[in-house]
Amino acid sequence: MNYTCKDCSYRGKSSGQGGGCPACGSFNLAGKISAPAARKSGKLRVILLIALWGYLFALIIWKLNH
Ligand SMILES: [Zn+2]
Repeated sequence: MNYTCKDCSYRGKSSGQGGGCPACGSFNLAGKISAPAARKSGKLRVILLIALWGYLFALIIWKLNH
């Protein structure tokens, strides 16, 4: 996990004691810069999966009724 400090722009693989910045002691650390994008694509995949299942269920129900 990579950490970036928003106060002193420290970048490193580890945070300081108690999760603060090892350089300036600030708790304004952002972990893993690429995380929001990954979470967004994951959410999109879930929505796509639900849509696909909904389509499948609708198709099955339609077939049962006809
Ligand atoms: Zn810092």
